Amino acid sequence: MQLYNSLSHKKEEFIPRFEGKVSMYTCGPTVYHYAHIGNLRSYIMEDILEKYLRFTGLDVKRVMNITDVGHLTSDGDTGDDKMLKGAKREKKTVMEIAKFYTDAFFADCAKLNIKTPDVVAPATGCIDDFISVISSLIEKGYAYEAGGNIYFDTSKLDKYYVFSDFKEEDLAVGVREGVEEDGNKRNKADFVLWFTKSKFDDQELKWESPWGIGYPGWHIECSCISMKNLGEYLDLHCGGIDNAFPHHTNEIAQSEAYLGHEWCNYWFHVHHLNTNSGKMSKSSGEFLTVSLLEEKGYNPLVYRFFCLNSHYRKSLVFSWENLDNAVISYNKLIDKIAPLTADKSGEVDTSEYRRFIDEFDDALGNDLNTSLAITAVHDVLKSKTNAATKLALIAEFDKVLGLDLIAAAEKTLAEAEASKPEIPAEVLDLVEQRKAARKEKNFALADEIRDKIAALGYEVKETRQGTEINKL
Ligand code: AMP
Ligand code: ZN
Repeated sequence: MQLYNSLSHKKEEFIPRFEGKVSMYTCGPTVYHYAHIGNLRSYIMEDILEKYLRFTGLDVKRVMNITDVGHLTSDGDTGDDKMLKGAKREKKTVMEIAKFYTDAFFADCAKLNIKTPDVVAPATGCIDDFISVISSLIEKGYAYEAGGNIYFDTSKLDKYYVFSDFKEEDLAVGVREGVEEDGNKRNKADFVLWFTKSKFDDQELKWESPWGIGYPGWHIECSCISMKNLGEYLDLHCGGIDNAFPHHTNEIAQSEAYLGHEWCNYWFHVHHLNTNSGKMSKSSGEFLTVSLLEEKGYNPLVYRFFCLNSHYRKSLVFSWENLDNAVISYNKLIDKIAPLTADKSGEVDTSEYRRFIDEFDDALGNDLNTSLAITAVHDVLKSKTNAATKLALIAEFDKVLGLDLIAAAEKTLAEAEASKPEIPAEVLDLVEQRKAARKEKNFALADEIRDKIAALGYEVKETRQGTEINKL
């Protein structure tokens, strides 16, 4: 597969370190609120990537953290503690909030056909691992204690800003948030690995550590959870584009300093879902959830379909009008598949099957071009191949696309059947007589019977899908 790698800024052939196996890590949600559909755009595209890699025969192990401690609103070391903010808002404990929104996140994922990763690890379950990696970073001279906190010393690295799109002056944490800078830091870009002194006196979750009672910074969790579950080499790391800095930059800094070698080869970043007023976020602007889409009568899979129609490396503008257009296209697609599901007999044409599998593979193999993969579905439907081949292809594609295409088509067909008026036995009998006449090529008799059927108020038509009887 050709995959754009944010580290090299180009499309590269994706080659896992160990043949046939992929270690894949995804930054999970911060569980202080519902995920918004922007967050879920990232998880949908990552899900497609995972499923496509599996489709090509690779054995993927995917790990995701759950951030339930340490994430401040700036993504750096300034701003409010997100979990504490959620707990105060709802007058609950941090762990109650974490449990509630973790469950809500996976319920939303299920509605969007996003597969649960093989390993899901909450940060609060791995504190000993963080302490051990931080201790080693101190020993190796990459981290220092100042004012009670432990900081990573970015000046010890040859290159800190690895995703070199980003300019240091644009990203200086503190300046960006308009918050006082932390005077303990030796360098502006240094970041906290462990807090014992923080402005959050009411911090609920604290642990013993060699540096005093405290809690971890946000970034350390992903390095540790990845290394613990996927070993010292990672093939593929995913997240939304806003994670590239500072989060992923810091993950690379601390992981490579700890390991003493390069850590992750490919970085996959999904661009943002925006509204007309800018990036969709929990702190500003419109905050739309899967439940809200459902309340408004939208099938969550239509949102997945909407996301698949554009490329993950372009920002995507959400509007109700755009979603309504996706509803129309999705329904049209299902309507085209529905008649195919009426008769599942017939044999798959293997050469046609291979031809379309290749078309689909080429689309996704070219930096996950999901809209071209949807075009492949349309091409199958337009083709002259038989229904069995079309259905087999659509079922195979849908293992990656996750749009429930066959199930939705079957439902549409069943609903259409159920809404058909009951046809009187006399008419059905005449229809059978007409079929027999046509078989014997007695078209004069067939026409006569058709007129009799019309006189009873029904119209009979031969279509490619069989005989259709409608009320006049
Ligand atoms: P969070 O729960 O804030 O840690 O974010 C979860 C994931 O959603 C991260 O990978 C973010 O980069 C991603 N994300 C945040 N906002 C958006 C957005 N508007 N569009 C797409 N992805 C986003
Ligand atoms: Zn992360």
